[in-house]
Amino acid sequence: MSRVLVVEDDPQLVRALRINLQARGFEVDEARDGASALRLAAARRPDAVLLDLGLPDMDGLDVIAGLRGWSRIPVLVLSARHTSEEKVRALDAGADDYVTKPFSMNELLARLRAATRRRPDAAPADRSPLVATEEFTVDLAAKKVTRGGRAVRLTPTEWHLLEILLAHPGHLVSQRKLLLEVWGPTYADNANYLRVYMAQLRRKLEADPSHPRYLITEPGMGYRFEP
Ligand code: CA
Repeated sequence: MSRVLVVEDDPQLVRALRINLQARGFEVDEARDGASALRLAAARRPDAVLLDLGLPDMDGLDVIAGLRGWSRIPVLVLSARHTSEEKVRALDAGADDYVTKPFSMNELLARLRAATRRRPDAAPADRSPLVATEEFTVDLAAKKVTRGGRAVRLTPTEWHLLEILLAHPGHLVSQRKLLLEVWGPTYADNANYLRVYMAQLRRKLEADPSHPRYLITEPGMGYRFEP
């Protein structure tokens, strides 16, 4: 049995893909945005990913980059962008194949079979989804953080924040995006929540929490994980 992660924000297409994949014996996980896709990929370890490039929270290319940090899992891009430049960008980012929307379900399934067959002996080639710094190590699949050889306990909110920042290494993540994803639309203006939780994370992860090395504040804009 193969497990496929479908990353797509169009509910009708998700439904069609789920029905067709399940009818052929695949187990299907679904993600509607990039952050959930990265979370699910680490947690469920699918055998292949079907990835839309136009996602509500990030570009599909960033999802590929996030996956390629730790996995050689086959990624088939599904996209309405059909210039060859777009295809080249997706393939350069680490996608295995590219299917232009609209596509025939049979063609997609054939390409999916080919991609999973080509998969270089799955497990040994895959690194565990670890983000390691000199100060701390995060195992994204096991949801464990260690520092100096000891487990660090994070609250679910701290974990969620950290996961989003780790998914965009070196990049600014806006306050608004973090608030929306972690607390939801009602809290989009509560930047003080972020300050409180980021301070907690720094106390747990940084050697000198008042001069953070890894969890950086971009004043007035957001936060950045500096690997
Ligand atoms: Ca889309």
